[in-house]
Amino acid sequence: MKIDLTGKVALVTASTGGIGFAIARGLAESGAEVVINGRSEATVNKAIQTLQQAVPGVAVRASIADLSDAQGVETLLRTVPHADILVNNAGIFGPQDFYATDDETWETYWQTNVMSGVRLSRALLPGMIARGWGRVVFISSESALNIPADMIHYGVTKTAQLSLARGLAKFAAGSGVTVNSVLPGPTMSDGFAAMMKDEMEKSGKSLETVGKEFVMANRPSSVIQRAASVEEVANMVVYVCSMQASATSGAALRVDGGVVDDIV
Ligand code: NAD
Repeated sequence: MKIDLTGKVALVTASTGGIGFAIARGLAESGAEVVINGRSEATVNKAIQTLQQAVPGVAVRASIADLSDAQGVETLLRTVPHADILVNNAGIFGPQDFYATDDETWETYWQTNVMSGVRLSRALLPGMIARGWGRVVFISSESALNIPADMIHYGVTKTAQLSLARGLAKFAAGSGVTVNSVLPGPTMSDGFAAMMKDEMEKSGKSLETVGKEFVMANRPSSVIQRAASVEEVANMVVYVCSMQASATSGAALRVDGGVVDDIV
């Protein structure tokens, strides 16, 4: 299968690092023009340089915007008024005791993880539907189905993304625009590495090793028995954004290494 996205504009939110950067790179390697979004000029420029080295001749645009509020989304939309592919990757995560999670934290998670995708879909879907082709992907998580007791605030936002993606797929029915969610399991992103930093420093172990130990201790149902790489997640996203994925819409696609113990 040859995935060719030449002529398509792809916006990947929060794409200066982690899973988002790997997705942007995968889409660029498939010929798409990509928009790199991050919160600072320095991180966005660095990501663009890395991308240009990896994919010579790539068409790339910068968008510096913090997507945790409506104003930030408006800033982004000024740089990207139209897109053919929207990957709602921006998402924050981290363990926190339920009793210690205050309203402000809940609101920050909701705005960043859910409302950024609501706002961007509302703005960019009409153009995709009018052009008769588009791809919207929400980067959810296995935590949407397998809600972690120490990250309930996060799990709630990830379940909400599944609902949003399924609803939008029906909303765009028959238009040529597909809407799906992708559910990674533990993945060795920059954010995951930051979460594991103390353990890596204390033990002197590699990210792969602490990732594997994290999976075995906290997600023992994992079939692959290790954390995934960001590229493994990106591969699924690039496929679902391709022409070839035209019969996949309204789906929740797992790249969780089999953590969710279910057969569908
Ligand atoms: P990461 O922390 O490695 O990267 C996230 C990026 O988002 C960073 O570059 C950060 O600067 C940026 N960012 C954070 N807040 C932002 C904001 N308000 N506006 C714009 N950019 C912002 O994260 P990741 O692990 O690559 O996660 C990406 C997505 O994948 C998230 O939605 C996350 O919930 C999901 N996910 C991750 C894992 C995992 O184990 N890493 C597992 C399941 C799902």
